Amino acid sequence: MQVFHTIKQTQEWCLEQKMKGKRVGLVPTMGYLHEGHLALVKEACRQCDAVVVSIFVNPTQFGVGEDFERYPRDLAKDKELLETTRADVIFAPEAPDMYPAGYDTFVEVFGEITGKLCGASRPGHFRGVATVVSKLFLICQPDAAFFGQKDAQQVMIIEKMARELNFPITIVRVPIVREPDGLAMSSRNVYLDAEQRQQALVLNQALQKAEQAILAGERDLAVVKKLLVETIESSPLAEIDYAEIYSAEDLSNLDLIKGRVLMAVAVKFGGTRLIDNRLVEV
Ligand code: AMP
Repeated sequence: MQVFHTIKQTQEWCLEQKMKGKRVGLVPTMGYLHEGHLALVKEACRQCDAVVVSIFVNPTQFGVGEDFERYPRDLAKDKELLETTRADVIFAPEAPDMYPAGYDTFVEVFGEITGKLCGASRPGHFRGVATVVSKLFLICQPDAAFFGQKDAQQVMIIEKMARELNFPITIVRVPIVREPDGLAMSSRNVYLDAEQRQQALVLNQALQKAEQAILAGERDLAVVKKLLVETIESSPLAEIDYAEIYSAEDLSNLDLIKGRVLMAVAVKFGGTRLIDNRLVEV
């Protein structure tokens, strides 16, 4: 496992792989890796011959007052975990290399997919994500890039961006990996104390209940949304940021539950904001 800290080394290595005719896969992450990230890496190793995992806590996707400074970081442990996979390279750039002084170029994403959910509660977040992912795409020039369904809105935005900016890259979605008790794995779970960790199970439970109601025939969106909200509110420590149901194709509004729907929730426990979601096909 090689660790590159510079853009130049990474660019050269990726180019060399492509010249050898290898299929290059990229897995963008912010590090502090867990089994969710490793599922992406394993899928990349399955589909590609040369795999780069980027580890970069991207400052431009954090808003003022968010957790950029305290976001957990442990490159040595990340490397150990990645050594259990067939990934070839860790790309761990320094912020001043990615964003030198006077940096002025950003990728703006607009529209219905971007304006809702995390786009509404974290202004500028997806501009930072689109910018860093575009930079990683241009540095690594992968054939395929791997993203988790855990960040459902993010992967939708990246698919659209890749299409609209003509990145010749296949975007691969990987299903959500959960802890045995159902909590979606997240680097931010380490922020939770024991009681918050226990109550955080309510995200998956609410999504599960709502899914069961739909599968049992409920088609009234307001009824399903109420079920989501009331289940989450049954946890005294939970503070809902959003609990919404949209079309899974383009996050357009629905009046009835029909087609593929995305149920997405963001809930705060103390200072920790967790997200989760479920796709249901009717
Ligand atoms: P992050 O390091 O949180 O920015 O995540 C990097 C990538 O891993 C993103 O594409 C996430 O969607 C994905 N990811 C994070 N947690 C999970 C999970 N529990 N299951 C599947 N993918 C995940």
